[in-house]
Amino acid sequence: MLTIFSPNMLKTYQTCPQKFFLQYIKRVNIPRLTTPFEKGKKIHALANYYLQKTDISRIENALTIEEAQIWKTLQQNTFFQMKCIKSEFQLSCKLSDFWIGGRLDALMQEGGKYYILDYKTGSTPKNPQYDIQTMVYLLCLDCYIKDYESISFVYLNLKHKNNTLITFNEELKLQYQKALTELCSKINNDKTYMPNTQNCSSCEYKTLCKHTIKQPL
Ligand code: SF4
Repeated sequence: MLTIFSPNMLKTYQTCPQKFFLQYIKRVNIPRLTTPFEKGKKIHALANYYLQKTDISRIENALTIEEAQIWKTLQQNTFFQMKCIKSEFQLSCKLSDFWIGGRLDALMQEGGKYYILDYKTGSTPKNPQYDIQTMVYLLCLDCYIKDYESISFVYLNLKHKNNTLITFNEELKLQYQKALTELCSKINNDKTYMPNTQNCSSCEYKTLCKHTIKQPL
């Protein structure tokens, strides 16, 4: 399989290999309801324009009261106020025989310290230090910036107004490399894409997947 494994791809495989097969091998597209994603998408787009110094006044005027509050929280965040190096930045790196990568919300700098920002309008991962997104992006940034004092991943929880910071180190690097290499290798060698039916009820493929668990009437 010749591809760059993104955090979403890797997480999908962990959730259900059959879902990974339908989504990324068969490329079956399922139309999604946009409503639950709309708020997060708008804030991400707004933050990107703002960091690129584009005039955002018209978009700001179109925000709902709730969105305006979230946007204010983001603007007041200490990490968001740092010097921005890149916004909506695509990064990748080679890991053993595989490529991993994805798009960062923003990369900020304070002296020799670099911070990957991830805006959350919903919940923060339960185990942020070992969340796949954290692992992929920190390994990629470690490859990208050769000379740094520190690199960290920061989840900005805009709903609860708090930050979760994970600072990279050599021990984590080895752990991340091992975990992600094993996962990529498992996907690469998978021939069956076994269904994991524990998550069928919330799966967008449930109407067409032959393995789905039918809910009792
Ligand atoms: S419906 Fe169930 S088995 Fe099928 S892809 Fe979704 S989670 Fe996997």
